[in-house]
Amino acid sequence: MKPSRVLRLALLVSCLESVWGTPVDQKEKLFALKYLKEYHYLSPLKSGNHNFKDALRIFQQNSDIPDTGLLDAKTITEMRKPRCGVPDFDEGGSSINSERKKRFSVSETFWTTFQLTYKFHNYASKGGLTPAKQRSIVLKAFTQWENISPFSFSDVTGSSSSPDITISFFAKGHGSCPFPFDNVGQDLAHAFFPEVGTVHFDDDETFTDGTPNGINLFSVALHEIGHLLGLKHSLHAAAIMHSIYKAYDPNMQLTNDDKNGIDYIYAQGNVTPGSTPSPCSDKHPGCIASQSYCDNVGLIGDSMRRICSKTCGQCDGSGVVAPCQDAVPQFLCAYYKGQSLCSKTNAYVFANCKKTCNFCSAG
Ligand SMILES: [Zn+2]
Ligand SMILES: [Zn+2]
Repeated sequence: MKPSRVLRLALLVSCLESVWGTPVDQKEKLFALKYLKEYHYLSPLKSGNHNFKDALRIFQQNSDIPDTGLLDAKTITEMRKPRCGVPDFDEGGSSINSERKKRFSVSETFWTTFQLTYKFHNYASKGGLTPAKQRSIVLKAFTQWENISPFSFSDVTGSSSSPDITISFFAKGHGSCPFPFDNVGQDLAHAFFPEVGTVHFDDDETFTDGTPNGINLFSVALHEIGHLLGLKHSLHAAAIMHSIYKAYDPNMQLTNDDKNGIDYIYAQGNVTPGSTPSPCSDKHPGCIASQSYCDNVGLIGDSMRRICSKTCGQCDGSGVVAPCQDAVPQFLCAYYKGQSLCSKTNAYVFANCKKTCNFCSAG
């Protein structure tokens, strides 16, 4: 082949790559598929979106990169960025025909009181930030939300009172949580919608302050508090409630999009202290994928039924969590109790004698 033809061919490949994107290998394709499933661009349900190309285009639109529907190196780079562990869409997945605009999204639930307390269960173990420093960083994040909402937050760490919100740092599979962390990297934290009041940070991450190294604790806390208050992920890339991690910036502020989301929930006049209790709904978009935990008789089942009350069938016909009752005649439960059989490891008694055995908090 003449050198000029080689050159022209190289140019053609380069032009095609700029149109079709740099090809990626099989490992990256599998990674992309897992990513799109995990964050619900592809639906975990039989119904819903299963079109890989459409899902990819929606991811690209959400990431503000060209929406070619083709898997290229640029798209993979976006997918490798650290992010919040909460899925970007509900179980139905994303839809290419959706009218959903590049703006905030809200959960079905909300707080019915505006004075909230929070408590640290433990602290980040890596990164060298002292507990006092971590508390002051998180306080700063709460204060930003306080400034744009009707809420006030107070830190009750160290007191014996039971808080509305608990802050914990856990690694990998953690305690009673049905949503395990992934080791160092992608998944940084997750929080549940009202009125669960739980936020978990991935303790495999190195949380830092005032440096571009590591993961900025303030940035992640600011985002997760939005979930605690009832915001889902925004499709507006600049919003704090966008799912991709925002690196250290000393001037990081909540955006108008975040404020509009909070106003939509709490400034319409329909949510006031003491108003309608939260409807029976899932407080995390990943409930369906973890549905098998609903029947777990241990602590993980307890929190699953609390976080995913709709998925776990905890609702009565009017859409609220059903009152806790025994499912078999009460004298039977009283007998089991008398025989010291009220144990969460006794599946039959646990399922049927919730009231008598005081398992009501487990749903
Ligand atoms: Zn999030
Ligand atoms: Zn968790």
